[in-house]
Amino acid sequence: MVCPYCEHNDDKVIDSRAADGGRVVRRRRECLKCERRFTTYERVEETTRLMVVKRDGTRVPFNRENVLKGVLAACGKRAIPEESKQALVDEVEEEITREFEREAPSRAIGERVMQKLANLDKVAYVRFASEYYQFENVGQFVEELKELDARPKDMKDQARLFGSDGTKRE
Ligand SMILES: [Zn+2]
Repeated sequence: MVCPYCEHNDDKVIDSRAADGGRVVRRRRECLKCERRFTTYERVEETTRLMVVKRDGTRVPFNRENVLKGVLAACGKRAIPEESKQALVDEVEEEITREFEREAPSRAIGERVMQKLANLDKVAYVRFASEYYQFENVGQFVEELKELDARPKDMKDQARLFGSDGTKRE
């Protein structure tokens, strides 16, 4: 450590103790040239945790469990393998941390979950989307549903599970 008095770059540690419940190490040092004493503190670098910016502008730490909860709720009792749900959440987490360094808007997370659910299970997708868009824009959800209904394959059967007002008819 460079001496703050004479800038000599050699010292000896004369005392070392933990502070702040062991999160900080405080070291008393003595310059080998001018023999004056100074103190250094060593602490673990704050891990840069991804923050999620919610719609109201507040920030919360990214929480994988919350994403998983939403996915599990949307999947309900659908026959979807547990590992597919976990893998979906892993992918979302990976993509989000890759794309956003420090802060990710919550909608970016919601939209990714939706995209992936759409590929995994259409009913789970609609459930998630209807939950999600309650807080977003209703018109947008209607557009999503139209798009869903316009898709071919087995999707129209599943759309019939839902009434025109969006309520479930199981
Ligand atoms: Zn010195």
